[in-house]
Amino acid sequence: MPLPVYVADADVYVVDVWSALMPGMIASYVLPLPGGGAAVVDPGPASSADFLAGSLEQLGLRLEAVIVTHVHLDHAGAAGHLAEENPGVKVYVHPRGAPHLADPTRLWESSRQVLGDMADVYGKPKPVPRESLVETSDGGEIPLPGGRRLVVLHTPGHASHHQSIYDPQRGVLFTGDSAGVILETAAGTARAPTTPPRLKPKLYLESLERMRRLEPGMVAPTHFGVWPEGARELEVQVEVFRRWMDALAEIHARGVRDPVQASRLLAARDGEASKLYKAGGYIRAFFLYETVWGMLDAIERGEWP
Ligand SMILES: [Zn+2]
Repeated sequence: MPLPVYVADADVYVVDVWSALMPGMIASYVLPLPGGGAAVVDPGPASSADFLAGSLEQLGLRLEAVIVTHVHLDHAGAAGHLAEENPGVKVYVHPRGAPHLADPTRLWESSRQVLGDMADVYGKPKPVPRESLVETSDGGEIPLPGGRRLVVLHTPGHASHHQSIYDPQRGVLFTGDSAGVILETAAGTARAPTTPPRLKPKLYLESLERMRRLEPGMVAPTHFGVWPEGARELEVQVEVFRRWMDALAEIHARGVRDPVQASRLLAARDGEASKLYKAGGYIRAFFLYETVWGMLDAIERGEWP
């Protein structure tokens, strides 16, 4: 079992929860708290709940709080398992996400429809007991034992119930899926939006702009890792998002509706898309096709430009 990587500037352990299957894809962030506790931002899929629990054990940290950026299976699937095994742990979630953690039935069904077999790979989430759920407010703080401060920003766009988590003392912003992905691929580091269907492009951009105004020193997207020059990274995300939307609006105007075909056309003219395309496999299917699908869907609904 690989040891979590400690990033001192952010005072955070990066747990590569999918390292056995696809390393460098899904990060769980473990924040050590004074007194031997830990808060986890995005516990990851249900299928790797045991891996995360094992990592906490390796680190000798006791789980005290789980914070989910949103309820999608790759981010929050393990929340119910962790709440079950650690009675008393609080699970912090956007109010619109809370019902889906309390009863994941509908979330699971819709995920099966959108993701197909991939949903089974992420695993089926267990319900989080209602008494463990804490609904967050925009601009509110998450009270953690030992006094580590975390500020919540509601950042819709990727999903209506998305929240990002800011540690103002260390200047690190946990962006979930609200500020795209930064992935190491064979073709180089790729920076790309992550916008599955029901993307709200204007909200996505507003959220990016709000996060940029914080001028974070570091950003930590769930996909993947802690990156310096956070404010610059967020600017790059704005640029790439606009570029892809404009390119896909043109591609859509030529009558292309199929995300796979549109992805190929986008990759032929855009360097970041090309890296994801060349990577193939999961990266191409999940981080390019899904994103292009969501963008085409938003264009089809008349939400861009
Ligand atoms: Zn994700």
